[in-house]
Amino acid sequence: MDLPDPVKGAPDWLPPEAATFDTVHDAFLRTALEAGYQRVRTPVFEHTEVFARGIGESTDIVQKEMYTFQDRGGRSLTLRPEGTAAIVRAALTAGVPRQAALPVKYAYAGDFYRYERPQSGRQRAFHQVGVEALGAQDPVLDAEIVLLGYEALRRAGLQEVTLRLNSLGDREDRGPYRERLNAYLDRFADQLPPDVAERRHLNPLRAFDSKAPGMPEIMANAPRLIDHIGEAAKAHHEQVCRLLEAEGVPLTHDPLLVRGLDYYTRTTFEYTAADLGAQNAVGGGGRYDGLAEDLGWPERFPGIGWALGVDRTVLALQGAGLVPEPAPRVDTFVVLAGEGVGQEAFAAATALRRAGLSADLLADGRSMRAQLKAADRAHARLAVLIGPREVAEGQLTLRDLGSGEQRSIARADVVAEVRASLEP
Ligand code: AMP
Repeated sequence: MDLPDPVKGAPDWLPPEAATFDTVHDAFLRTALEAGYQRVRTPVFEHTEVFARGIGESTDIVQKEMYTFQDRGGRSLTLRPEGTAAIVRAALTAGVPRQAALPVKYAYAGDFYRYERPQSGRQRAFHQVGVEALGAQDPVLDAEIVLLGYEALRRAGLQEVTLRLNSLGDREDRGPYRERLNAYLDRFADQLPPDVAERRHLNPLRAFDSKAPGMPEIMANAPRLIDHIGEAAKAHHEQVCRLLEAEGVPLTHDPLLVRGLDYYTRTTFEYTAADLGAQNAVGGGGRYDGLAEDLGWPERFPGIGWALGVDRTVLALQGAGLVPEPAPRVDTFVVLAGEGVGQEAFAAATALRRAGLSADLLADGRSMRAQLKAADRAHARLAVLIGPREVAEGQLTLRDLGSGEQRSIARADVVAEVRASLEP
């Protein structure tokens, strides 16, 4: 029987890279939690309409990237391709808009699934950490969110992060602009790739996403939404920029940035990392003041958020040679120095572990030398050596693996002695 292949585009994470993955994940999540965002969890699947209505029928995600299937009850379910639509759905289900204390500030983390063409940095299963602030339209909130994502990426270890910012204005202002953009696209009708030609009637903004040959050049001269947004959205955008500039955040104004989802309004932004090649966006987000209504809520319920990609950030760190040294696997290795001491060794390792100290042992009969080699591979700082004579005398030997110094300690003191030796 052959070993089953791993699913294409769905990476496994094993040591030591899995530790880097966790470091990045924790840096993202901690940044959000420390700013007062609270953890939420939603299921990995939703009724398909949550994403179809939320993300928008004109998007790549909805048109060709969703993992959609029928469950045994005949319902159409979709594995989540992103977090926002599902989290807004969850907040609406819980009646959060009727709550007194708004905005609510949420943080989430999880795996997401898109049927994309796999390449470096683009996978079919990937991990995102995200935040969403729901129920307010205050520009300070936009600035807070934009800055938080930037700080999260820096905290994960990225040194060169570019922050691109744009405003897509309010939906009410889009009508005349759509006409203008469609009129512009008419001039290139015979050059538009089929997907752009088809989708531009659903949402001509999607033409800005297209990387088809010739398209970026066509779009470079297209009328820009930022030049046609309403007064309120414009004032909002200027305020967001002022707040960020006052905090010294380097902004790159990018009028072509629309991001590939239909729900965005006003503030939109993306973070890119140097050394990542074509897939250089490590995160992005924006405001989505119309999303709740798209999902069927009777009133406007504004929101803003971002998602940062953990996998791609790890790649960026690797590309820039910024992966931190792996932490020692354990601090202490318990070493069996002779026969018949397995139980004692197991007891010592258990005592250390129960006391919250990290410890490992290999009691499979290999030589002491081999055990010390394993201790070295684990980057352990201490060895607790246990031989038959020591067992008989109620003693153990504590060895500093750096200096080679060692001394006898009472068996009963092993936890206190190890703890004291590990203190800086
Ligand atoms: P998005 O939800 O498309 O705004 O993506 C936010 C971030 O998630 C991106 O900047 C990437 O870091 C990450 N991401 C999105 N799609 C993928 C993918 N197919 N593979 C790996 N990372 C992804």
